[in-house]
Amino acid sequence: MSLQEIFATRANRMKASEIRELLKLLDQPDIISFAGGIPDPDLFPKTAFQDAFAEALNGPMAAQGLQYSTSEGHKPLRVWIAAQMQAIGIPATPDNILITSGSQQALDYLGKLFLSPGDTALVGWPTYLGALGAFNAYEPRYDKLDPLSNRSGADYTAAAKEAGGAAKFAYLSVDFANPTGATVSRAARERVIDLAEEMDIAVIEDAAYQSLRFDGDAIPPILALEAERRNGDLEACRTIYCGSFSKTLSPGLRVGWVCAAMPVISQLVLMKQAADLHSATLNQIAVASVAEQHFDSHIDTIRSAYRARRDAMLEALQAHMPDGVSWTKPEGGMFIWVTLPDTLDGADLLKQSLESERVAFVPGHAFFADGSGRNTLRLSYSTSTEGKIAEGVERLGQLITRALNG
Ligand code: PMP
Repeated sequence: MSLQEIFATRANRMKASEIRELLKLLDQPDIISFAGGIPDPDLFPKTAFQDAFAEALNGPMAAQGLQYSTSEGHKPLRVWIAAQMQAIGIPATPDNILITSGSQQALDYLGKLFLSPGDTALVGWPTYLGALGAFNAYEPRYDKLDPLSNRSGADYTAAAKEAGGAAKFAYLSVDFANPTGATVSRAARERVIDLAEEMDIAVIEDAAYQSLRFDGDAIPPILALEAERRNGDLEACRTIYCGSFSKTLSPGLRVGWVCAAMPVISQLVLMKQAADLHSATLNQIAVASVAEQHFDSHIDTIRSAYRARRDAMLEALQAHMPDGVSWTKPEGGMFIWVTLPDTLDGADLLKQSLESERVAFVPGHAFFADGSGRNTLRLSYSTSTEGKIAEGVERLGQLITRALNG
């Protein structure tokens, strides 16, 4: 007997992505990689963390940092986050905040909280691969969230019912999304709230990249827009905001948060108790200390570094991509999304690119819940120098030109 035969049915939906497997091979030094989508390690606030950990371990906090702590999370960190939320129009108190082990854990918990097998999650086409991975374990059906289309809430609800379940939430990555780099407009955010009201479902707002805006005016978070409609009463809101320190301070420390109405937070606290008791105490103490002292100045540093890289990539795309190729122009974040003519396949192109050009990227189809989008690519500029960006995009442009002419 093989143990695979007795795995729960949910394990069938947890598949290693072929792309992730391929990307594991990418640490050869001669490859120019636009694949990662991770922060530049040279930009981590290392000295600030050295000081924060030393203080947490040597000072009066040492016993606390090494001890178990509450599932809700380190109070000073929740106080700092609540103030940040208020600054962007979300009337949160520390009791509306749960610290999670990265926002990825929040996505897993929210899938667990809302989705019974066969229920529907509304997601963008494309959407963040890790969200699909987190939700897949709960065996949902996906429907395409397209807020500015004419599709009514009743139509989404009927389709979910016909498929044997109920629609439970709309999930969207709002600012400089992974994978497209696009930002959801204010009109689309308002429309998502309308749809969620009409359908009586939750909204999961993934704000992982929100602090990384380089230019243009910030659009209020969906939770802020909804709170405005409810006269500032967060407890009456159906939007659940997921934040993270991964793109700003450090992904390795695994500190993120959920901001939502208290009944949602209380239920998530029970889930966290059952899953991992709490996120690492010492990491939360260090993140609170670095955030309190250095957040704004550090954000300025990383914004200007990523802005220069975004500009270099846009310039190189303009110079080297043949006619028929288009791309997004993100106002922040780490990604540019490239759409090729229909005749080209991103996965084939990656194989050729690795062989002949030594340039890596992520084929876009992995981000589509229905496996479409074969003619798309995700490029990340976050970990390359401007020189490497220019060189890599030039090589990629030549490969695409050859592929189109051949
Ligand atoms: N949401 C989005 C859109 C992301 O791109 C990522 C990280 N790639 C996450 C959530 C999860 O990040 P973390 O768990 O490190 O907060």
